[in-house]
Amino acid sequence: MSTTSFLAKMIDLLYPPNCVCCGELSESRSYLCNRCIEELPWYRKERTDFDYLPVPEFDRCVAVFTYEGRIPETIQRLKTKNDKRVIRFFVRQLETLVKNTFPTELEIPRIITFVPMSEAQERQRGYNHAQEVSRMLGRLLNRPVASDLLMERDNARTQHLLDVNERFLNAQESIVIGQRRDLTGFSILLIDDIVTSGATLNRCASLLKEMGAQSVTCAAIATTTHSKHKAEE
Ligand SMILES: [Zn+2]
Repeated sequence: MSTTSFLAKMIDLLYPPNCVCCGELSESRSYLCNRCIEELPWYRKERTDFDYLPVPEFDRCVAVFTYEGRIPETIQRLKTKNDKRVIRFFVRQLETLVKNTFPTELEIPRIITFVPMSEAQERQRGYNHAQEVSRMLGRLLNRPVASDLLMERDNARTQHLLDVNERFLNAQESIVIGQRRDLTGFSILLIDDIVTSGATLNRCASLLKEMGAQSVTCAAIATTTHSKHKAEE
């Protein structure tokens, strides 16, 4: 046995190539087993049904998955455990999505930032998943990550527990400018995990534009679908 294959076997023993979504052995040795590759609720396009936003402040919003099937539990693992394989999997998907959204490298937004998390929440979870995802994505896309542009005040209520009207108000009052910078002429890529009503992204985008951002493209791991969102309200 060569040293390389011995090492590969050892690595397999230590880190079995299980599917990041269902946990089954991944025959393809990639992040996903063959069944998940076929069955995951891929979305991979722009979401445009934000008609109920008073004024859409962002220029476009794209997402990798719809928020169903195995995706909610996988995102939950991203949020609660600093699981590098899950992070890498989602980041690779976001990278492909962004590259498909912008035909040339030059058109990819110049600065990456993310929907902020309150300090209390970050302490509770032990890490900020949106920041981890953004940093890794920034390295792949060769773009700087601005972590301090936006901040969420403590004691903000969790968006998904609120109805749509409360979400607008809550997003308005809880997310504020962190470090004011001159973003004049810069295009921004705003990262989020799950898009529901779009209220949070809208608030973030309006603050980025207040600082001069030329355009804001939102890229999310998953989106609820319009009909599902309506059903939840
Ligand atoms: Zn699987």
